Amino acid sequence: MVTLAVRKNRAGRLIEMEQQYGAHNYHPLPVVIERGEGVYVWDVEGKQYFDFLSAYSAVNQGHCHPKIVDALIEQAKKLTLTSRAFYNDALGEYEQFIASFFGYDKVLPMNTGAEAVETALKLCRKWAYLIKKLPENKAKIIACEGNFHGRTITVVSMSSDPDARKDYGPYTPGIELIPYNNIEALREALKDPNVAGFLVEPIQGEAGVVVPDEGYLNEAAKLCKKNNVLFIADEVQTGIGRTGTLVACEHENVRPDVLILGKALSGGVYPISAVLADDEIMLCIKSGEHGSTFGGNPIAAKVAIAALEVIRDESLAENAVEMGEIFRNELRSIDSQRIEEIRGKGLLNAIVINPINGVTAWDVCIALKENGILAKPTHDHIIRLAPPLVINKNQILEAAHIIKKTIEELDK
Ligand code: PLP
Repeated sequence: MVTLAVRKNRAGRLIEMEQQYGAHNYHPLPVVIERGEGVYVWDVEGKQYFDFLSAYSAVNQGHCHPKIVDALIEQAKKLTLTSRAFYNDALGEYEQFIASFFGYDKVLPMNTGAEAVETALKLCRKWAYLIKKLPENKAKIIACEGNFHGRTITVVSMSSDPDARKDYGPYTPGIELIPYNNIEALREALKDPNVAGFLVEPIQGEAGVVVPDEGYLNEAAKLCKKNNVLFIADEVQTGIGRTGTLVACEHENVRPDVLILGKALSGGVYPISAVLADDEIMLCIKSGEHGSTFGGNPIAAKVAIAALEVIRDESLAENAVEMGEIFRNELRSIDSQRIEEIRGKGLLNAIVINPINGVTAWDVCIALKENGILAKPTHDHIIRLAPPLVINKNQILEAAHIIKKTIEELDK
């Protein structure tokens, strides 16, 4: 008992330290995680949980995947960073690997998702002036309401979420927002001859796993092509197997002109992001015109190869299709007024909560935590459910059972 009390104090102390010395830009669930393996994490008291957030879909390959961790350790002992001032013996191999893995001529390696989005936007503007021949400073990017592309000034300039935007102005110009999943709005917006690119998430993750109508992405890509506008897919969250295909655009046979990846490109062990495009677009950026000290460093190169090999060799996209079907079917069988909707694709799913008696999505997440599942609300009433893609049938059934039990307890 004494040991337990001391350990509980440890969790409290750790939370307090973050509160006191860290900026208050996050509001975590009150759980302090110490260890992770596969679909599970353990808190400092030794309690085991299913991780149904997967670090916002960065840990698709499961926590601490040995092959990915080994790649990191091996490379870290040999060479960590050269910057791009010199060549190194890992980058070229990675560039060749990822370019052929996703079927593009070239990759531009970066570190975080937001940086990769910024890179894609810069690339799009360059292409617009050099190839499309738009008049100087007139290039326009179309993005969608409800989007989440990260946190930089330009990216929040595109946001329609007041929490992301407010008091960060003045905003970057040259951006127009249109409603998501509305092909007519896109058709209308593309009438402006200065449009250079259309930036879109194939499924809006942070908005609450908003899945567009079938055919939307395909039609949008066709409209872009017709109007000589780049179709830029932000697959930072939806990519790397999460929705049941390598990238979510595949569901609609769309090959984006510019593909943005991040998160699970490292299996969650290292910040790695990438922008992929063909030569006509990618070669618009010349030496010295864009870069990053850490982008494409030797550790990132080895880690990303390992992370992608795990997705391929363990058939994780295929597993996401199968487990996703089982999971949604199980959740849809829960008979409760509290559940308004179950939606998603592959293993990117969400429950929309009806706030009966004032019980919010946050309260449901707290109750889930008590019962052994970690998930996080997105907005007030939606809970995203996105376990590592290595989850097996017994585990997904057990997790669905815990969710059912939790909802039933709240309904009592
Ligand atoms: N784009 C999408 C679709 C995302 O979901 C996220 C993060 O959640 C980002 C970009 C930003 O990624 P990062 O937090 O690594 O900058």
